[in-house]
Amino acid sequence: MTTVSSPPVLAGSWIDGAPVSTGGPTHAVVSPATGRPVAEYQLAQPADVDAAVSSARAALRGWSTATPAERSAVLAKLAKLADEATADLVAEEVSQTGKPVRLATEFDVPGSVDNIDFFAGAARHLEGKASGEYSGDHTSSIRREAVGVVATITPWNYPLQMAVWKVLPALAAGCSVVIKPAEITPLTTLTLARLAGEAGLPPGVFNVVTGSGADVGTTLAGHADVDMVTFTGSTPVGRRVMAAAAVHGHRTQLELGGKAPFVVFDDADLDAAIQGSVAGSLINTGQDCTAATRAIVARPLYDDFVAGVAEVMGKVVIGDPHDPDTDLGPLITLAHRAKVAGMVERAPGEGGRIVTGGVAPEGPGSFYRPTLIADVSEQSEVWRDEIFGPVLAVRSFTDDDDAIRQANDTAYGLAASAWTRDVYRAQRASREIHAGCVWINDHIPIISEMPHGGFGASGFGKDMSQYSLEEYLSIKHVMSDITGVVDKAWHRTIFTKR
Ligand code: NAP
Repeated sequence: MTTVSSPPVLAGSWIDGAPVSTGGPTHAVVSPATGRPVAEYQLAQPADVDAAVSSARAALRGWSTATPAERSAVLAKLAKLADEATADLVAEEVSQTGKPVRLATEFDVPGSVDNIDFFAGAARHLEGKASGEYSGDHTSSIRREAVGVVATITPWNYPLQMAVWKVLPALAAGCSVVIKPAEITPLTTLTLARLAGEAGLPPGVFNVVTGSGADVGTTLAGHADVDMVTFTGSTPVGRRVMAAAAVHGHRTQLELGGKAPFVVFDDADLDAAIQGSVAGSLINTGQDCTAATRAIVARPLYDDFVAGVAEVMGKVVIGDPHDPDTDLGPLITLAHRAKVAGMVERAPGEGGRIVTGGVAPEGPGSFYRPTLIADVSEQSEVWRDEIFGPVLAVRSFTDDDDAIRQANDTAYGLAASAWTRDVYRAQRASREIHAGCVWINDHIPIISEMPHGGFGASGFGKDMSQYSLEEYLSIKHVMSDITGVVDKAWHRTIFTKR
């Protein structure tokens, strides 16, 4: 007889520098590749959210008044510990998301470590206007102060990176944090909090509460005793989070959905555009807010582009995400696969032609084949709505004006790319396409020094870079009289005679 051992039940919260389990229901983390549980943890209760916020409030003064050098040293140590824990972080990320091990090893974890390292440095680089006598009678100076207690809510697609993008600039700025990762992918966020404790982060500065959005998420987003709410996730949920925070007038920052255009002009390197569109649309099984989703291709290149993309998509290896030869892992859940499949199946009814894919392979897990849909109409669902799967839709354009118009014909504005060898076209595309990032002759790369964040329905505010540090800082003007006189010049506007 074989016995199947159950995974141990983990503490689902990290509060005041320690794991916390207060009882109550547990949740199984399931591998999307197998459908089998890989971990089980205790869900946070509303009282845990209160405890986490109180802990963050209590820790705020000490951390926000630590010197930049002291904060930097702790974050640098965290980067080192995260780097040393790469194997564990990769294993957790692959198990809980099903993303291919090559992606986790070469992108998620090293990218996160680099981002932590960047913010260790950024903690020492607060900037502002020069102090000076702008009025003549006063010295004005600028202080940048931590916003306070930050509530953060993150999605399941890049659990570690999304946590790092939100938590690290907040910590570098001197804020304390309570983060709620997605219920289905809490493991690497909990590990990050533990590593932060080992790096010397004072208890209470970085807290984690786990559970569903409807439960723990709403409690946290609407909590009266936080100072700011930052969110990464879908546009509808982001708007609900903003409404909950607005009840208390709390500052918000939202990184939301996307529907990135991929514009191929008639002078583009066609092979580069074909390969770039497949890589850009299939990264993380298309579950990437910046993924290429709408290819807008010059009419003379259209047929060759469609044929080339279909050929490259056909060679993509789908399979066990732990296998280094696997290119494409599963979608996050069977329910999400059903949503993706439904959108693809409705596409022909709106004029789309499924060139390749459009089916799920046999077997366990929530896999879905790379899918190319050509000739879609501008009003069709697959052209307008976020699919968040390995699906690229294609249309042609007539001239450059039409290309830019189609690229901008979306409520979203997170990312876009333009493919051309003409410097003037590249300049025009980067100027006129309405998106937080425009790539030229590439699509997807990000870098810690540069900002990430959208326009319109994709949200507002920035992750990564010095700009994201600013999200977590309040600017204070200090104006000191330097005359020492009672009768100040401006008093004449109040007193005619004294
Ligand atoms: P989601 O459904 O919006 O969930 C995001 C987070 O919000 C999860 O932790 C979720 O909790 C929580 N949540 C759900 N309802 C809530 C509520 N009423 N109040 C407070 N929190 C609530 O998004 P997702 O499906 O996880 O992620 C995919 C989406 O994220 C896509 O739209 C993608 O474009 C976007 N995204 C954007 C960026 C960016 O940088 N712009 C980056 C990555 C992803 P539970 O899941 O635990 O219920």
